[in-house]
Amino acid sequence: MIERPQYSIVAPVYNEAGNLERFYQEVKRALDGTDEPWELLLVNDGSTDESPAIMQRLAEGDNRIKVINFARNFGHQIAVTAGVDHACGAAVILIDADLQDPPAVIPRLIAEWKSGVDVVYAVRAQRRGEGFFKRISAKIFYRMLHRITDVNIPVDTGDFRLMDAKVAAVLRQMREHHRFVRGMTSWVGFRQTGIEYVREERVWGETKYPWRKMIAFALDAITSFSFFPLQIMVYISLILAILSLLVGLVISILRVAAGEEFFGGQATTIVLLLLLSAFQLFFLFIIGQYVGRTYDETRDRPLYVIASTAGLEDRRNDSAGRSFDANRSAETDAAATGRDGALNAGA
Ligand code: UDP
Ligand code: MG
Repeated sequence: MIERPQYSIVAPVYNEAGNLERFYQEVKRALDGTDEPWELLLVNDGSTDESPAIMQRLAEGDNRIKVINFARNFGHQIAVTAGVDHACGAAVILIDADLQDPPAVIPRLIAEWKSGVDVVYAVRAQRRGEGFFKRISAKIFYRMLHRITDVNIPVDTGDFRLMDAKVAAVLRQMREHHRFVRGMTSWVGFRQTGIEYVREERVWGETKYPWRKMIAFALDAITSFSFFPLQIMVYISLILAILSLLVGLVISILRVAAGEEFFGGQATTIVLLLLLSAFQLFFLFIIGQYVGRTYDETRDRPLYVIASTAGLEDRRNDSAGRSFDANRSAETDAAATGRDGALNAGA
C-alpha cells in the first residue's frame, strides 16, 4: 500500500537557491513534530539560478520531496496551482519558499483544521522587512478589494494557508488563467477562519514582485472578483450629464441677464475636451482589461507546461495543465483520507 501523505506542502520556487536548504529544514522540523506522513511539493517556476539542482538533490535525499519543473516562468499563482493539482494530502498547505511565511506556523494551521475548519488562512498581523510603500499599498488594496467584491476575501492575507482536500478538489476544477488564488479559495466556501502571524523578512534574495507585476496582480484580483470598475461608469456618466445641464442653465441665465458671453474662448473648450477624452480613454482601458482577460480564457490554453518532475512517478503527470481528473472527484478526494488521519486510500 502506498502511504498517502496527510499533509501536502506546496511551495513555488523562482530563484530561491539561497533559501531552499533552510526552507526544507524548517518544514521538516515543523512537520516531523506532527508524527504524520507529509510531502513537500516544490514547483520550480523556471528558475535560472542554482535552485533546480538544489531541488533535485533534496528530492534524492528525501523521498517526501516532490519536484515539478516548469518549462519556463509561468508566474507565482500558476506555480501554486500546479502544486495543488499534484498534491494528494488530506490537507494542502500553501507557503512561500523564501521563509517569509515561517514553517513553524504550520502546526497552528493544522490544529485549526483538526478542529473542523476547512480553510485556515494566515493573516499578516505584522510585516517585517518590507518597504513603507509596499505595506501601505497592500493595506489599501486589500481593503478596497474587500469593499468591491461579494466574495468574502479576508484582508492582509496572502496565499499562506491550509485547505482541506475537498477545497483543493474544487480549486482543481477552477481552470481560469488569471488567478488570484487567495480569492479563489475564499470563493469555494465551507468553514474558513484566520490565524494571525508575523510575516518575516525575506531570508535571502530579492522580491520577485516589482511594481509592474504587483499592478498586474492587483488587476487580476479586481477583474476576477468584481464588476465594480465597469459599474461606476454609469454613475460618472450621470454626474457628467447633470453637470452639463447645470452649466448650460447657468450660461443661459448669465447671457440673458448680463447679455455677455461667459465661459467663452477656445482654451476652455480645449481643456474640457482633453479632460473628457482622458476620462473616456481611461474607461476604455478598464473595458480592455476585461475584454483581454475574456480572450485569454476563451483560448483555453493549458495553465502551465511541465518539463520534468522528480518523485512524482506515481502521480498523474498532467503536462497539459488541465489536471482535473474525473476519477478524482470532490467526493473521493474528501473521503479518501479523514481529518483524523485515518488512511483508507487504496482500500
Ligand atoms: N515566485 C514564483 N514565480 C514568480 C515569482 C515568485 O514561483 O514568478 C515564488 C517565489 O519564489 C516565492 C513566492 O513565489 O516563493 C513569493 O514571491 P516573492 O517572495 O518574490 O513575493 P513577495 O513575498 O515579495 O510578495
Ligand atoms: Mg516573499
